[in-house]
Amino acid sequence: MHLSLTAISPDISLVPQPFFYIVVGVVGAIIGSFLNVVIHRLPREESIVLPSSKCPSCGTAIAFYDNVPVLSYLMLGGRCRKCKTHISARYPAVEALTALLFVATAWHDGFSVALPFDLLFVTAVTALLFIDAEHMILPNAITYPGMVFALVARLALPYLTGTPHFDDLPMLLNGVLAGMPLWAASLIGALIGALIGGGSLWLMGWTWEKLRGIEAMGLGDVKMMFMVGAYLGWRLTILNIFLGVLSGSIIGIVLMARQGKRNMQMLLPFGVFLGIGAIAALLSGRQIVEWYAGQFR
Ligand SMILES: [Zn+2]
Repeated sequence: MHLSLTAISPDISLVPQPFFYIVVGVVGAIIGSFLNVVIHRLPREESIVLPSSKCPSCGTAIAFYDNVPVLSYLMLGGRCRKCKTHISARYPAVEALTALLFVATAWHDGFSVALPFDLLFVTAVTALLFIDAEHMILPNAITYPGMVFALVARLALPYLTGTPHFDDLPMLLNGVLAGMPLWAASLIGALIGALIGGGSLWLMGWTWEKLRGIEAMGLGDVKMMFMVGAYLGWRLTILNIFLGVLSGSIIGIVLMARQGKRNMQMLLPFGVFLGIGAIAALLSGRQIVEWYAGQFR
């Protein structure tokens, strides 16, 4: 049974387009502000709800009017109102970037039931990306709920949108999984994506360990790609890993060339590059894969 929402969904032509994007962008900046708290506190195992934000230097609680995403930072000239200590530019950068990613996701999805799901996925990946950049860890507190979320989305979204929705589903339903119920095919697609995502990361770490005799990466990358692979499906997951390895290698080579180091043991937070690849694959993966496939026709 396909659930049709056409009868109850609002007439989107009544919502002016610029207004839609402004609202999504503002929500993104507010989520980005929350992500700053998560990025700072989650790896330190502090509560992400209480207490409210304080100046890291003088400990003064930050008033709500000094906590407006991006704008407060600009108005205060990047300094604490009380002690004038410089505040890291990372805070407004995370807020602005999250706002931009939210608008890009809204551009990709339009006014659709899929939008809140994709925004949640982008939020989780952005949090992982920045936490890995700062602390070199990918916390289970994000990857485990992320896996559950991916499975819920896999079950619900094809019915909510009335289309297979996920990139891999049409191929699976027309191929190996023909005749299978939509929900079962969607879950199997999630499992294949998770195994390809997590499995290839695990294999990379295992090979590196055998070659070098050192532990290359924690299982955080593997868990992150379980979650991402389940959501994106096998095709976009392969693209994601390719983009992650490519961007990570380029940055790694640039860094090594700059520092004059030939030491391959220099640790790069690979989750950052996997995260960039995941968002790129979500927002433009289908076009990239189809362009690539078109080169061989
Ligand atoms: Zn201060």
